[in-house]
Amino acid sequence: MKQFVISILLAFLILPFTANSSEAAVTFLDVDSSHRSYQEISYLAGGNIVFGTGGYFDPNSSVTRAEAATMLGRAMNLNGTKRATMFKDVDSGSFASGYIQSAVEKGIISGYSDGTFKPEQPVKRGEMAILINRAFGYGGTESISAANALLEKGIAQGISTGDFGYYLEIKRADFSVFLARAINYKYRINASAEFGGDLQIMADSLNVRSGPSTKFPIVHELPIATKVEAAYRVGDWVFIRSAGVEGLVHGAYLTGTYPSFMNKPLPASTPLSEQMIIIDPGHGGKDPGASGYGIQEKAVVLDTALKVKALLDKTPFSYKLTREADVYLSLSQRVSLAKSVGGDTFVSIHANAFNGSANGTEVYYYGTSATNPYQSDSKKLAAAIQNRLLAAWKLYDRGIDHGDFHVLRENSMPAVLVELGFIDNKEDNEKLASAWWRQEAAEAIYLGILDYYNEKGYNVSYLYNNVN
Ligand SMILES: [Zn+2]
Repeated sequence: MKQFVISILLAFLILPFTANSSEAAVTFLDVDSSHRSYQEISYLAGGNIVFGTGGYFDPNSSVTRAEAATMLGRAMNLNGTKRATMFKDVDSGSFASGYIQSAVEKGIISGYSDGTFKPEQPVKRGEMAILINRAFGYGGTESISAANALLEKGIAQGISTGDFGYYLEIKRADFSVFLARAINYKYRINASAEFGGDLQIMADSLNVRSGPSTKFPIVHELPIATKVEAAYRVGDWVFIRSAGVEGLVHGAYLTGTYPSFMNKPLPASTPLSEQMIIIDPGHGGKDPGASGYGIQEKAVVLDTALKVKALLDKTPFSYKLTREADVYLSLSQRVSLAKSVGGDTFVSIHANAFNGSANGTEVYYYGTSATNPYQSDSKKLAAAIQNRLLAAWKLYDRGIDHGDFHVLRENSMPAVLVELGFIDNKEDNEKLASAWWRQEAAEAIYLGILDYYNEKGYNVSYLYNNVN
């Protein structure tokens, strides 16, 4: 099925697109040919990356965060379909909702810790430098290194010698200039680009365009097996050169070796939905687990697991609870269920008991790779959850440890067993008995899972907003 879709996509992309190539340059009433940004604005408008309103471009207006996400999203060919976002202040009907969500998933832009995006807030020049660095993979992570990367490439210039104007709002004209230069090096100061690599064209006849989408005019057609060199990426598109021909082509039609100096590609769309998280509330039914001060482990851990479920439900993750009611399951049934639904991460939730004097939080993982090969990831997951639980509940730190438990040992995925606290210890019991504290524990487990995925390179930054 996937192969079929790609074939259709490829067929579509190599269709001749003559309609656009003869279009006249887009012009605006307030950006005439003498305007300092005329060329760059016209270039972007010609590829539908920027638009005006009623014939005006408004070159001196500030750029809001929603507009910046939209312009970058169009330049990188991100999915701009309007849809629900992770932010309480970005409605699914907003013009920018699709590009904002896509840009967040690609790690180009992030929201605020209070769960907002602040779409109307103007973008400062320092922030713009970071956004362009992230979109084009230049590596600058804060204002100064990001601005230096743009200065070095001839994409930006300072407002005066030695001053980048980090805290000034960027104007639409300047944002357009920087974006056009990032996309097409011919607009850069001291226009030059390094080409290299050993690539070939795979399509029968490939259109080379002036910009990174089929909205841009065709500048040339290259036949199959033509040798080309590459300079840099713009999303999935590549700026190439071949025997005097230069321009952008979709990377899907190139095969061979890219030069090592090329900018990094955008991360693949967050595949969080392909990650199946198994939450396993211990015990249940005829097996009450431990008890103390009038409460039973099976009820405490089920309620905590259901609270974790409510948090996971607000994310793209797939998840499954081994039980959602007071029913009995054997240990092997829990593991079989986790495996049968393709689990990727397994978190078993328990409460401990000893003699009333032992206390504290601990998380177990299977510390040898004899049966469950995910020893290293299991340990990472255990550490992440333990850290979050200690911060939330502030009980005694019993640490993380190897535990020879059936649900860890017989599993085939990163797996941990959380002991929230001792149900027969007065201080620990008070937290286990409290719905408020159980919510805190659920949030800690959720955050620990996010920390683990973050450490593994997934972009989950926007999911931290689901808890305070
Ligand atoms: Zn237990």
